[in-house]
Amino acid sequence: MPGLAERVNSLKASSTVAFAARAKELARQGVDVISMTAGEPDFLPPEHVLEAAREALRLGLTKYTATEGTAELREAVAAKFKRENGLTYAPDQVLVSNGGKQTLYNAFMSVIEPGDEVVMVAPYWVSYPAQVQLAGGVPVVVTARAEDGFVPDLADVRAAITPRTKVLLINSPSNPTGAVFPPELVRGFAELAEEHDLWLFSDDLYEHLVYDGKFTTAAAYVPHRTLVVHGASKGYALTGWRIGFGAGPKPLIAAMNRLQGQSTSGANSLAQHATVAALNEVEKTAAFQAMTRAAYRERRDVLVTGLNRLGLSTPLPAGAFYVMTDTTAIDPDEERAAIKLLDEARVAVVPGTDFLAPGKVRMSYATSLEQVREALQRIEALLG
Ligand code: GLU
Repeated sequence: MPGLAERVNSLKASSTVAFAARAKELARQGVDVISMTAGEPDFLPPEHVLEAAREALRLGLTKYTATEGTAELREAVAAKFKRENGLTYAPDQVLVSNGGKQTLYNAFMSVIEPGDEVVMVAPYWVSYPAQVQLAGGVPVVVTARAEDGFVPDLADVRAAITPRTKVLLINSPSNPTGAVFPPELVRGFAELAEEHDLWLFSDDLYEHLVYDGKFTTAAAYVPHRTLVVHGASKGYALTGWRIGFGAGPKPLIAAMNRLQGQSTSGANSLAQHATVAALNEVEKTAAFQAMTRAAYRERRDVLVTGLNRLGLSTPLPAGAFYVMTDTTAIDPDEERAAIKLLDEARVAVVPGTDFLAPGKVRMSYATSLEQVREALQRIEALLG
């Protein structure tokens, strides 16, 4: 067999995807496993969104859409940014993609030259450094500390900037830590981007999952150099429908659109139609988000209290649906700790290794309160 390209030979598989798949496979085999792996809401999408998907079928919306997404969806996205964030985008400043993951990938591919640096905060989502490297760039990491609730120090961000820096990446609420950055820190990132003439990529996927404090998008400060990365997966419980969207300066969106037109073309036509309902039927969606937020908050409180009581130190995150837990009491090595949790407690988690969070694992509480309680009991039994 002929060889493979170096870019994939050196590419690690996504551990969030891999551990979630492993937990699903065990469940399929009948193993009683509690999956706290993937960041995937356990709620069904709201009924008005499901109904819009049925309507899309009835209307026969089965053809390709424009690469950039349907006009209706791009208008709905622009209206969402206006309504919720006070941001003004023309529809041609919006690109719909196959999940926020593709939005981000398009963006890195559109701005990075070989050797360009992207400053990101660790613990980070596993796909950030991988995507930067695929684009020929170099991830430069700023570490946020557990004792600071995983909120980074702006001085560390400043110190990481070099003449090769091209992009600052900000993700608040954060996957995998759940940290929500205060507005003055977000503004600090924006000021650094302005001062050093950098792109600012603001991954806002978890906007609607904030329990304490307030969501702030970096685009509020420097929209002319910010790409907002967003999508339907988290706040609207539409993970499998694969709808992401980006909004930002026209030349960047146009470049991302050219790239997408030569790779995947437009996103799924039925899912785009359903996402219009998720965005435009404002009151119904807000009620759904309030309901899910209250449920996540309760689970978070139970989980964080329970883990700390068991001696597994876990900061209380203000957002998203993840906690970063210190598992050195189970095993100093986080991969071995994750294996013990799976094999002996039947609780599936993602080891911190690929998030650059040594000694820790990520646990998702996008699972029922009952499962969260059961997981805590199993961990307690494991710890003896
Ligand atoms: N973003 C989710 C997670 O971190 C989904 C899996 C993935 O694409 O990484 O679990």
